[in-house]
Amino acid sequence: MAKKQKIKLHSVKGMHDTLPSEQFIWDKLRKEIKNTAEAYSFSRIDTPILENLSLFERGIGEETDIVEKQMFVLPSSGGERMVLRPEGTSAIARAYIQHGLSRVSQPLKVYQEGPFFRHENPQAGRYRQFHQAGFEIIGGENDPIYDVQIIMVVMRLLRNLKLKNLSIHINSIGCKTCRTIYKKKLLKYYKNRKKQICNDCNKRMLKNPLRLLDCKDDKCQEIKKGAPSVIDDLCSFCSKHLRDVLEYVEELKIPYQIDPSIVRGLDYYNGTVFEVFSEVKSPEGEIVLSPALGGGGRYNYLFNALGKGGTYAVGAALGLERIIETMKATGVNVPIIKKKSVFLITIGAEAKKKGIVLLEDLIKTGVNIKESMGKNSLSAQLRAADKKGATWALILGQKEVFKESIILRNLKTGSQETIFLKNVLAKIKKKL
Ligand SMILES: [Zn+2]
Ligand SMILES: [Zn+2]
Repeated sequence: MAKKQKIKLHSVKGMHDTLPSEQFIWDKLRKEIKNTAEAYSFSRIDTPILENLSLFERGIGEETDIVEKQMFVLPSSGGERMVLRPEGTSAIARAYIQHGLSRVSQPLKVYQEGPFFRHENPQAGRYRQFHQAGFEIIGGENDPIYDVQIIMVVMRLLRNLKLKNLSIHINSIGCKTCRTIYKKKLLKYYKNRKKQICNDCNKRMLKNPLRLLDCKDDKCQEIKKGAPSVIDDLCSFCSKHLRDVLEYVEELKIPYQIDPSIVRGLDYYNGTVFEVFSEVKSPEGEIVLSPALGGGGRYNYLFNALGKGGTYAVGAALGLERIIETMKATGVNVPIIKKKSVFLITIGAEAKKKGIVLLEDLIKTGVNIKESMGKNSLSAQLRAADKKGATWALILGQKEVFKESIILRNLKTGSQETIFLKNVLAKIKKKL
């Protein structure tokens, strides 16, 4: 018989628990996502965690890092293989086509928020299970106004979260026509410098040349700086689209810079691409750019790949773990609002019996009541009340049960009175 393996009491690599003490910051974030999305007329959409593998092969592209090596693929027993969703946009596009959402008023503005999965090497701000909020505008015209509306909702959300020194890095990666010309130019430039660039970049030359521009390897930085810029090769249509987007951004006084190194790694993007950064203080006290808090762009080609060409779309996704880390790093504190509460204390078996019914009655009517009824002594329960920060205590002992009464004590001043049980609710409501 196989030897029993020792159980590993550790969450899976790159995946994390969110403990009760962390929930308040997540609650705040999720609430802000919902409020901001609704203010800009985005409706919520939810898609399943599992999708068919082919959706991402077609949508994101087979030669991308995500599809090549970062997906969690489930073993299949016949039929198509399924994956844990590595991103949200493809699934929303799938839902748009599947449910005929082109028939409702266009463009469709939707948002989603939830967990995504990529098999990457975990590092600061990068996890194998991570959370994103995504905003998409699908259908309607190929109008730069929608690119800007996506930028607006993303910036508003980050500003509402009190993140400061935000800036958008914008680029255009052109359409199939101008991008093809540019790619040739870029490859020619890199071919002459093959020996000076990193191994990954040598691979990128064959598979995904645009990604040469977002290489983070020190070796490649100088060469990158001298590379031809896609902006110079944009066709008149793409160049006007970018100009229009920038004009709107300027009108809105959103800080931005044109950054030719923003290429986003996925096949489905065309035209506008952007990423959002925040300036943060490093541990050494220097001002540096945060890792990208999110990014997005126009992805008309996704619908071509999924068989519904001619559908225009633009969107963005924000990394929630990164936002939370930046909120903490920049000292954005999230105050915990402590509501006044009352603490129920019971002493003895009879009091416990009566107390559990009283607890249920008070919760039912919306009273903020806490308890620690598993503890028996008065002093232990008073300590628990103190830990919970309760303002008032209701103390029910043998004598009180007998007299159908209860003691109401002010835990801050120590003063107390005895009241009839039937008057508890009215009295408490007045106090809280
Ligand atoms: Zn073009
Ligand atoms: Zn490189």
